[in-house]
Amino acid sequence: MLGRSVYRGAGKRRSISFSFDDGPSEGSRRLLDYLAAEQIKATFFECGMNVARHPAIAREIHAAGHEIGNHTFSHPRLCLRSPGTIYSELSQAQETIEAETGAVPTLFRAPYGLRWVGLDAAQRRLNLLGVMWTVIGNDWMWPAQRIADLVLRKADAAGIICLHDGRDVQPKPDISETLAAMRRIVPVLRERGYRFETVSELLRPDLAI
Ligand SMILES: [Zn+2]
Repeated sequence: MLGRSVYRGAGKRRSISFSFDDGPSEGSRRLLDYLAAEQIKATFFECGMNVARHPAIAREIHAAGHEIGNHTFSHPRLCLRSPGTIYSELSQAQETIEAETGAVPTLFRAPYGLRWVGLDAAQRRLNLLGVMWTVIGNDWMWPAQRIADLVLRKADAAGIICLHDGRDVQPKPDISETLAAMRRIVPVLRERGYRFETVSELLRPDLAI
């Protein structure tokens, strides 16, 4: 087993989740400001190493009502790694996130979407459900308009959009294209009648919102 994962929400609501990987970073606060202004709750799959670097920002993300998921400690490619190494990457991230923010993640996203033998056991031990995506924005390499065009072409009901408020564990990543893409994506999705939920909310078929 490579780790039990979901790719989209369970309900038929016209809802979408934004998920942001690889943070927190220096740029996350600008994203938080934007999400607050738009009254959007999102899910942040954070690396333990980045949480240890920016504990105050991680706490702000949690305090703002966003969901925090586990994205390993140091963002390794999990393929060809031993089960012990995989468990340690997940558990170190879990411990760091809980110690710094008080949040206990229930969701996990594999770096690069790569899953490997041993991941399933690690997720079970830590009670983490794997979350993939329906759209990945390529926002670490594309300009905003191209990111937005792709996301808007592929976004659908109960979809999970994967963007990034960091760049693996690089210090001071530039996430300005991601932010500019969000400013293009959100108004169009609203026009199409979508609401925005965290991934955990999106996974509940019966949520009445
Ligand atoms: Zn990542």
